[in-house]
Amino acid sequence: MSFQSFNPVPRTLMGPGPSDINPRVLAALSRPIIGHLDPQFVGMMDEIKVLLQYAFQTKNELTIPVSAPGSAGMETCFTNLVEPGDTVVVCQNGVFGMRMAENVTRCGGKLVLVEDEWGTAVDPQKLEDALIKHPEAKLVAFVHAETSTGVESDVKTLCAIAHKYDCLTIVDAVTSLGGIELDVDGWGVDAIYSGTQKCLSAPPGISPVSFNEKAVEVIKSRKTPVQSWFLDLNLVMGYWGKGEKRAYHHTAPINALYALHESLLLLKKEGLENAWARHKHHHNALKAGLEAMGLTLVVDEAIRLPQLNAVAMPEGVDEAKIRTELLSKHNLEIGAGLGKFAGKLWRIGLMGYAANEANVRLCVSSLGAELGGQSCLAGIGCVDSYYSS
Ligand SMILES: *Cc1c(COP(=O)(O)O)cnc(C)c1O
Repeated sequence: MSFQSFNPVPRTLMGPGPSDINPRVLAALSRPIIGHLDPQFVGMMDEIKVLLQYAFQTKNELTIPVSAPGSAGMETCFTNLVEPGDTVVVCQNGVFGMRMAENVTRCGGKLVLVEDEWGTAVDPQKLEDALIKHPEAKLVAFVHAETSTGVESDVKTLCAIAHKYDCLTIVDAVTSLGGIELDVDGWGVDAIYSGTQKCLSAPPGISPVSFNEKAVEVIKSRKTPVQSWFLDLNLVMGYWGKGEKRAYHHTAPINALYALHESLLLLKKEGLENAWARHKHHHNALKAGLEAMGLTLVVDEAIRLPQLNAVAMPEGVDEAKIRTELLSKHNLEIGAGLGKFAGKLWRIGLMGYAANEANVRLCVSSLGAELGGQSCLAGIGCVDSYYSS
């Protein structure tokens, strides 16, 4: 057998992540590798922390990228904050809320599950009812942007309720960071995790996290050691910590961090508000095009994510076949339904660098072409008039 270098055909990534990456960010990946304790690298680590504080809108000192994907950010929050026997309320309205619940039980916590219909937001009243029933609860966890359904929940309100009952909050911001408004300090989030491959448009494999002082206090005063050695923030802080000499903990993903640094720089340059507005703008164009083709978005407008569009399956359409054709004929990737929604919808992402006019046009024209000629023209016409108005 003879092997050759792997050179994938480029795709346009409009699924639930990873998303398209700015060429500047890809170029950063191939810069020369240096040691992970090299003063140059340590300087860049410090910059990443400041840039992440900007992205999260926080002054939290413990704001770092965990060297593993979003799922590891989730585990970082739960393994560090939950001790065996702790009661944790998880508000679940999709796949990622279910994973949070699984984390609680694996940490030996007592799970109180508050369930909402998939496709709807977390109901603040149900959370409050659960907290009244469980005064022993220590933590409340929920997902800001549920990527499995395309729904946004109200972080500010949910955090206020949690605090009223003396609970700290864990928020999943994997899909929200950089795509919609997120104000960690202003909204009173205590612990939060994200991912690099969604609206930050960096390569996957890194998870930005941030913990406020109250959360750090809980971690420092644990009665039991954190079960995971790798994710134990008491140890990780020695590597990412401020000022004091850095101690080797693990080897950071050096080149991937160059890429994250570059993507955060691009976000800072664009400005958070402008990035959110750009996602909304291209979402509106996509919506106009899809609706003109007779397709419907399943989530109510008030709670709909611009960066993740859940599209109802038209009658009699083989959803997997269409996705296969989009990929093979148009080099376009969109997402399938996940969990309960498998086979019932498509998930069209407009995340980070992928939220642009060319992508919206490609998506509407390709989908139109695969669904049938007439509707294609209607969709494109609507997108045209949206962008020219
Ligand atoms: C993608 C995603 C995750 C998991 O991130 P990975 O990088 O795939 O591990 C967690 N939560 C939400 C809401 C996500 O969209």
